[in-house]
Order: sequence, then structure tokens, then C-alpha cells
Amino acid sequence: MTTTTMLDTDRALVQAATAVAKLRCRSDNHSVAAAARTADGRVFTGVNLAHFTGGPCAELVALGAAATQGEAELETIVAVGDRGRGVLPPCGRCRQVLLDYHPGIQVIVGPIDALRKLPVTDLLPDSYVWADQRLDASAIVRTGQWPMPTVPASRAASED
Ligand SMILES: [Zn+2]
Repeated sequence: MTTTTMLDTDRALVQAATAVAKLRCRSDNHSVAAAARTADGRVFTGVNLAHFTGGPCAELVALGAAATQGEAELETIVAVGDRGRGVLPPCGRCRQVLLDYHPGIQVIVGPIDALRKLPVTDLLPDSYVWADQRLDASAIVRTGQWPMPTVPASRAASED
């Protein structure tokens, strides 16, 4: 695990998510708030949309809010539960989405008196990397054939 020191800006991000959770999470429809920060300090927030069809978690709504404003890169994210539940770790789906959209993002986790910041890669070891499995559609136009996904070469046992 690669724990990174919590900065004042990280504590401010937790406070931002906590404030949104207190203000907007007042029903079963919205029970978690997330706040995400860019390297230059812009903060985007979101609340979950609970729904039986699989509504998005707060983290995904915050990612969408950032994308809507044209932000391509997020540096840090945190989610906070309603009813004083504190900081919540991202679910499995969010870990995968965070990894694929923002592979360098740091995630704040832990109890409120011992918060820490981890790279998303630490939260998802031996991960499936979506980009590595996607086909290059433009190659079909060029070659008329389906390209094979790029698969990293196996490492030799001697590298372990
Ligand atoms: Zn989630």
C-alpha cells in the first residue's frame, strides 16, 4: 500500500463532501455525497441516484459533473455517507471506473480520525484495464480486419 499524507486540501475535500451530504442527502434516493478535485484545485461534487435499475454512486456523478465542465483529469476523490456515516470507500464498480477514467487518482479512505489517501491502483490490485482490452475501431477502416486487443507480454518467471 502506498499511503500518501493527507494535506489541508484533502481535508477541505472531505469537508466539501460532508457539507453536500448534510445538505442534499435527506432521503433514500440520495444517501452519499462525493467530492473530486483537479490538480489546480477545482472541486466537483455529486450525490448518488439510488434506483432499482442500478443508479450511479456519488463518485460517478461527481466524475460526470467534472466531465461536463471539460475536466479531463481528477487528482483526488472522497465519498461521505449521510447520517454521519463518515468517509466511505468506493464500491467495486466505482474502483473500476476510477481506474479506467482517472488512473492516477488518489482516494481518501478510513475513519475520520485516521483518514489516509491511496492511489486507486492500490484499491484494485491485479486489475482489469479496460483500455488494454478495447479494439481500435479505426484500424478496421485502415485494414478491413478486426484488430486484436493489445495484450501485455507475459513476464518471464526470472523477473519476479
Ligand atoms: Zn460506487
